[in-house]
Amino acid sequence: MDETVEKVETVETVENPETVEREKIQMITPLVEMDGDEMTRVLWKWVKEILIEPYVDLKTEYYDLSIQNRDATDDKITEKAANACLKYGVGVKCATITANAQRVQEFKLKKMWPSPNATIRAIMDGTVFRAPLLVEGITPLVPTWIRPIYVARHAYGDVYKGVEMTVAGGEVKLTSNRGNKEVFDFGEKTGIVQAIHNTDESITSFARSCFNYALEEKVDLWFSTKDTISKIYDHRFKDIFQNLYDTEYHEKFEQAGITYFYTLIDDAVARVMRSNGGFIWALKNYDGDVMSDMVATAFGSLAMMTSILVSPSGAFEYEAAHGTVTRHFRKYEAGEETSTNSVATIFAWTGALKKRGELDSNQALVDFATAVENATIETIESGTMTKDLASLFHKEGVEIKVANSKEFIEAIAANIKL
Ligand code: NAP
Ligand code: MG
Repeated sequence: MDETVEKVETVETVENPETVEREKIQMITPLVEMDGDEMTRVLWKWVKEILIEPYVDLKTEYYDLSIQNRDATDDKITEKAANACLKYGVGVKCATITANAQRVQEFKLKKMWPSPNATIRAIMDGTVFRAPLLVEGITPLVPTWIRPIYVARHAYGDVYKGVEMTVAGGEVKLTSNRGNKEVFDFGEKTGIVQAIHNTDESITSFARSCFNYALEEKVDLWFSTKDTISKIYDHRFKDIFQNLYDTEYHEKFEQAGITYFYTLIDDAVARVMRSNGGFIWALKNYDGDVMSDMVATAFGSLAMMTSILVSPSGAFEYEAAHGTVTRHFRKYEAGEETSTNSVATIFAWTGALKKRGELDSNQALVDFATAVENATIETIESGTMTKDLASLFHKEGVEIKVANSKEFIEAIAANIKL
C-alpha cells in the first residue's frame, strides 16, 4: 500500500524537461528583421520557430524584403529597413534575390530593382566583414589557418565606379581644377584607358569601420595596398588609415592588446598564406572582391561564412554570405527533400542577438545566442550535418549523419544547453 502511494507521488513530481514551460528571455530593443527569398526564406522561418522563439520573447521590427514586396513597394521597403538599422543599431537580413533580366520575367517585376545589399550598404555607409566559422573536422585548405581570417572589403569606388574608353590614337589627358596631366600618348596606336576615383570621406569611413571592428572582435588589423606603385592613389588610402590610427585609435588598440599593421599587398598575400589566422585583412574594393572568395573557399564552404556590415556610426547588420540557394528551392517547391546548410543564417541571427544583448546590457540574451552557436558547432562536430559539409568532414571515430534541412535545425535545438 505504502509502496503504491510512493510510486504515484514520484510519477506526479517528475518534471519532463520537454514540457516544462521555461520563462522566455525578454528583449529590450527590437531587432530589425529583414526577411528574404527562396530557400533562405524557408530556413529563416524554421530557425526562428525551432531555435529562437521557444526561448526568447522575440521582439523585431519586421521588413519583408522578398522580391515580391520590394516590387509592390517600389523598393521603398529596402530603404526603410536600412534606415531602421541605423535607428536601432542592429539588424539581421535573410538572403534576397538580386533582380536580373530573367528574374524580371519570372516575377513580372515593374523594373530591375537594384541589389538590396547595395542599397543597404549605401544608406548605412558601411564596410562588409566576412567571417568564416571553424569547426573541428573541417580543415581549411591552408592547414596553418587555425583561427578565422576576416576579410574587410571597401565597398565604394575604384574600378566599380570606373570610366573606361577605347582610344584610336592621340594623347589622353586628365583634367581637373588642379591642372592637367597626360595619361598616355597613343601616337598611331589604338588601345584602352580607364579612370577610377575614390573620396577621402569614403576611405575614412572604411578605415573607421575597420578600426572599430578590430576593437569589437579584439583581433589585429592588417591593411595592404600597392602604394609603392600607386604613389598618389593607393598612398592616400595608406595615409588616411595611418592618420586615423595615430589620432584616434592608437591608445584604444594598445589597451585592447591588438595591433594595426600596414604592408604592401604582395607581402600581405605571402604573410596571410603562412599565418595562423586570427586577424582582419582590410582590402581595397577590387582586392577585397577577389581575396574574399579565395579566403572563403579555403576555409571550406560559403555556407559557413557570415557577413557583417558595420557602419562608421556603429550600426551592425548581420547576414549569411551566400545567396538564396535557388537550386535547392526548386527541389523544395517540387516537394523533394533538401539538405541546405543553415549555419550562416543561424549565426547571422545569433550575431545580431548577441550584439543587441551587449548594447542593451541583456546578458541572458547574449548567453542564449552563445548557447545556440555552441549547439550548432557541437552538432556538426558530433557528426550531424548537411550534405555540403559531409564531403569536407573527416574526424576520427565520428560517423557522419546527413540531415535534411529541417532535421539539421532540430538536431541543433536538441543540443542547446542553457
Ligand atoms: P547561392 O544562393 O549562394 O548558391 C550557389 C550554390 O552554392 C548553391 O546552388 C549550392 O550548391 C551552394 N550553396 C550556397 N549556399 C548554400 C547553403 N546554405 N547550403 C548548401 N549549399 C549552398 O548563389 P546563386 O545560386 O548564384 O544565387 C541565387 C540567388 O541569390 C540569386 O538570385 C542571387 O541574386 C542571390 N544572392 C543573394 C545574396 C545576398 O542576399 N547576400 C548573395 C549572393 C546571391 P549546390 O547547388 O551544388 O548544392
Ligand atoms: Mg567576388
